[in-house]
Amino acid sequence: MVGDLAGFDYILAIERAHDHAQLRASLVNAYRHIHPMLLVGRITEALILAELAAMYSLTIDYPARQSVRHLNARGWRVPSLFRQAAAWLSDKIAKAVTVPVEYEFGRRPEERAPRVAKAAQLDTAAKLVRKVEADAAAAVPLDETKAELRQLLRELGCEPKPIASHPIITEEVQSRFARTRETILDLDFYRAAYPYWRYTATLDERTTLGCRALHGLTMPAGDPKWVGFIPPRHWRCRAHVEAVVHSEGVRAKKTSPAGEYAGDGTFGTLNDEWEPKPGSYPEDLWAIYKEAKGIQSPHIEMDGAWWRKERPAK
Ligand SMILES: [Zn+2]
Repeated sequence: MVGDLAGFDYILAIERAHDHAQLRASLVNAYRHIHPMLLVGRITEALILAELAAMYSLTIDYPARQSVRHLNARGWRVPSLFRQAAAWLSDKIAKAVTVPVEYEFGRRPEERAPRVAKAAQLDTAAKLVRKVEADAAAAVPLDETKAELRQLLRELGCEPKPIASHPIITEEVQSRFARTRETILDLDFYRAAYPYWRYTATLDERTTLGCRALHGLTMPAGDPKWVGFIPPRHWRCRAHVEAVVHSEGVRAKKTSPAGEYAGDGTFGTLNDEWEPKPGSYPEDLWAIYKEAKGIQSPHIEMDGAWWRKERPAK
C-alpha cells in the first residue's frame, strides 16, 4: 500500500474553503506545492518489492530441482548444462564489460517512479477539482462536497495509512510483477526447461471477456504471436504467463490468440513512453504538471498500436 502524504495539504485546503470557488482555487494551489519526492521513494520501494515477489514466485512455481529434471528429460544432461551455463555466464561477463546489462533489479523502478508519482498526483488533483466543479454546477451544499472530497482522498491513497493505493500506482506495481516474471521466464535457462507459455487468467465474475477468451492460450515462448497478448493487457488485469514443459505445450488445444483481444489500445502503462494526455485534465492543473516536469511541448499518450513494438528476438 503506497500512501501519498499530499493528502494533508488537500485536507487543509478543503477545511479552510468557504465556498466552491475558493475550494477549487485552494485545491489547485495545494497541487502546485506538492513535493513528489516522498511518493517517488515509496513507489520505487513498491516496484522493487514487485520485482522481488516475481522472482520469488518463480522459485516457487519452478523449483530448481524440478527444472533440472525437465532439462534432463529434454536431453539437457546436467553436466553439459553446467558447462553451457558456465560458458553462457562467462560470455555474459565478457559482454558486460562492453554492453549495458539487459536486466537489473531496481533500475526500472527508479526510472519509472517519478513519472508514476507525478501522473498519480495529477490524476488525484484532477479528480478533486472536477468533483468541486460538478458540485458547484449542481449547487451541492459545501459540507457535502467536503465530506465527499475526504472520501475521495482515501480512495486515491492520499493518506498516511491508505485503504488502497492510487489506481495508477497499483497498476504499475502489478505490471512490474508480470513483466519481471516474463523477463526471467524469457531467460535461456527457463526457455530450455519450459519452452511453452500459457496465458493464465484469474477466473471469477471480474474476469474480462478477453482474458476469459485467452485463458489457456498456449504457444512457444518465442512465438511472435505473443506480441500484444502478454498480460497485463488492460487496467486491473490479473492475468500472467505461466511457462510449461514441452509435453504439456504440444498437447494444448488453444494455440492461437483471438485477434480482437490484442491488448486494449488505450492501456497506457505498458507503454514506456506513457504520459498523461493533456486534453484529459483541467487546463490550470495541466499547466502546473507541465511546468513541474519541464515539458516544453505537451506529451501525448500514444493511442493504440503500442503492442506492435517488437519483442527482442531470441
Ligand atoms: Zn485481464
